[in-house]
Amino acid sequence: MNRLQIAIQKSGRLADKSLSLLERSGLQFARSKDKLFWFGRNLPVDLLLVRDDDIPRLLVENVCQLGIVGENVAEEKLLEVQQQRPEARLESLLRLDFGHCRLKLAVPEDSDIDSIHGLAGRRLATSYPQLVRRYLAENSVEAEVVMLNGAVEIAPSLGTADAIVDLVSTGTTLRANHLKAVAEVMSSQAALYRCPGRLDDAGEELMAKLLTRIQGVQQAAESKYVMLHAPRARLAEISAILPGAESPTVLALEGQDDRVAIHAVCTEQVFWEHLEELKAAGASAVLVLPVEKMLA
Ligand code: ATP
Ligand code: ZN
Repeated sequence: MNRLQIAIQKSGRLADKSLSLLERSGLQFARSKDKLFWFGRNLPVDLLLVRDDDIPRLLVENVCQLGIVGENVAEEKLLEVQQQRPEARLESLLRLDFGHCRLKLAVPEDSDIDSIHGLAGRRLATSYPQLVRRYLAENSVEAEVVMLNGAVEIAPSLGTADAIVDLVSTGTTLRANHLKAVAEVMSSQAALYRCPGRLDDAGEELMAKLLTRIQGVQQAAESKYVMLHAPRARLAEISAILPGAESPTVLALEGQDDRVAIHAVCTEQVFWEHLEELKAAGASAVLVLPVEKMLA
């Protein structure tokens, strides 16, 4: 049977979380310190460790069949590939809820530009020329796009651009460079991608199995197993407080007719406020436990 190759970032913001997600999904690899290829030990699934920018192209060229990459990079690189191969497609299978960031249009603090429309006829520096050109076109603005691979945020003070489009997560870098954000071009997070139509039946089956496991890990990460004692009379009220719980299990408590034990899987975050509400509704002995794996 053919093996599947998954590409993830070798080092950088997405690297650790990508690897951890795959390992928690039960994949084991024969690690090698500096090699770019880790052989899958327990399933026919191997790992390629590469620069994030290379992942979209590796998918299109079928060097790997799955990849974890930021949506910003996936869309930028796909647009680039489509210039030569307009039929190229990438399919996002699952958003992974890490690597959150926003691609923002920013201008010097003292600039009079306050929206994309103020950029007509001006210069814009970015590492995401395709996304920026698409954004300009969507807004019917014509501006010059200068491609920079790094240090985009210093372009305005060097006089090479009137504005930038760059990734922002906290805004600290913008402030440090006396820039202010005026519009959002895209919001992004890491996602699992494939290139459609490349696998035989066995490959599709393996990919589906892997996807189910990864979804299970993600769901488990948000889920908690909650156990508590409660007055039988307030069962409905208490069930309603449990976040994201469907039909809890109700168990008898030896020697107590008016109180029961309730067990429930909460698929949404359980906050202290929920516990306080439960207590106010008569619950006691409340325990919140992590869930390690889930198979729906
Ligand atoms: P590589 O060496 O793999 O090319 P890189 O320098 O391009 O790495 P990183 O800085 O590790 O990439 O960022 C990888 C991805 O992390 C980005 O493309 C983006 O999707 C996401 N990300 C999350 N927050 C931020 C942020 N504050 N700045 C930049 N990228 C971020
Ligand atoms: Zn990169």
